[in-house]
Amino acid sequence: MLKWVLLLGGLAAIYFWIKSKHRVASPDQSTAAPPAAVPAKPEVILPCGFCGVHLPQSEGLMQEERFYCSAAHRDQLDSRGWIGSALWRPSPNCDARSGGLGVDLVVIHHISLPPGEFKTRNSTQYIIDFFQNRLDPDAHPYFAEIADHRVSSHFLIARQGYLVQFVSTVDRAWHAGASQFEGRERCNDFSIGIELEGDGDTPFEEAQYQTLQNLILQLQSQNPDLRFAGHSDIAPNRKTDPGMHFDWARFQKDNALPLEKLPFGLSSR
Ligand SMILES: [Zn+2]
Ligand SMILES: [Zn+2]
Repeated sequence: MLKWVLLLGGLAAIYFWIKSKHRVASPDQSTAAPPAAVPAKPEVILPCGFCGVHLPQSEGLMQEERFYCSAAHRDQLDSRGWIGSALWRPSPNCDARSGGLGVDLVVIHHISLPPGEFKTRNSTQYIIDFFQNRLDPDAHPYFAEIADHRVSSHFLIARQGYLVQFVSTVDRAWHAGASQFEGRERCNDFSIGIELEGDGDTPFEEAQYQTLQNLILQLQSQNPDLRFAGHSDIAPNRKTDPGMHFDWARFQKDNALPLEKLPFGLSSR
């Protein structure tokens, strides 16, 4: 008798197990059906901003509104004098280089607006506004004094290390003013200007030196005869930047520069 009870119980258990499996399996059967066909979107084809090769957008990368086939091409100085990895904030404060002079000098500056305020808040946008002639003279008493100045460097390296470009290296940016380098006046004619965000009283950031190193490498790729000076070296009676905190010895080491490329030496000044 017990044998029969166990046998029937066993059969019943198998029956309910198969039934429950069937119920779980049912929903899957409906989803297993092939999805309704969605018309494929045509891929957007874009030209690389550096080399011009056309690629589907998904195979390259975007930087702001610009497309590049690779990170290497985004990060290089292109033939028109722009670096793709920088934020492009074009300034009107530039013109064509006169006299057909080659570019053989880099001038290092520092700037902060209002002076020193980067220490408590992000004030990089004021520098961008200043070089784009958009500085609001009512935003700070100091801005009222300088808002109508028409100046710009080629590049700015923010405290966080990101790079901003205002002027093509092919063109003459208005960054140095009255100046002289080895007997030649008007250094804007033959130089590239780089501003480091800072105030002269505060050491520059590690990230700024790293970005500067990459930038110098790119500039040297198109201008192999570059030498390097501070704004105070070429306009000693008017200017003190980049100041005591710019580490010229480190700069020389980072970029493996022969000493003759640094005619004002390696000491802080
Ligand atoms: Zn490319
Ligand atoms: Zn300067």
